[in-house]
Amino acid sequence: MSLTLAIIKPDAVASGSAGKIIAHLEEGGFEVHALRMTRLSLAQAREFYAAHSERPFYDSLVEFMTSGPVIPMVLEADDAVPALRGAIGATDPADAAEGTVRNLYAESKERNAIHASDSDENARAEIGFFFSTHERLGLSG
Ligand code: ATP
Ligand code: MG
Repeated sequence: MSLTLAIIKPDAVASGSAGKIIAHLEEGGFEVHALRMTRLSLAQAREFYAAHSERPFYDSLVEFMTSGPVIPMVLEADDAVPALRGAIGATDPADAAEGTVRNLYAESKERNAIHASDSDENARAEIGFFFSTHERLGLSG
């Protein structure tokens, strides 16, 4: 078993889909290990998506990610990183496979309901970005 980080993005929190998304992931075999609601500052959103800072959509992405509350969560599963990427679907909901979170709940390529870490290394860093060791005490991984 391994861990990954998901974030329910502001569009999905605002539309009242957060509970359904969490239930969908639990039914898909992910165990929630840590979870909270927070609102990203501009600096936090810029840092979190720093890898995209040269992309044309960066400023808009940062504005979107700070537009309302988000729900970061640590999820556990077998091969959690690729498993969660599969469960959320392609970045653009128009390309997301049937039954994936983005197919079911995303509005657009930017407002796409959920984030998932894309490597074990990034998962470790992103879990540390949102959760202290204390908040994960007693949990495996
Ligand atoms: P995430 O990192 O949020 O899990 P992803 O890995 O599927 O998504 P990335 O390429 O890392 O996709 O892009 C990060 C986020 O930036 C996307 O989820 C989306 O919100 C936004 N984004 C990516 N490409 C575009 C685009 N062409 N136009 C608008 N927004 C985009
Ligand atoms: Mg990404």
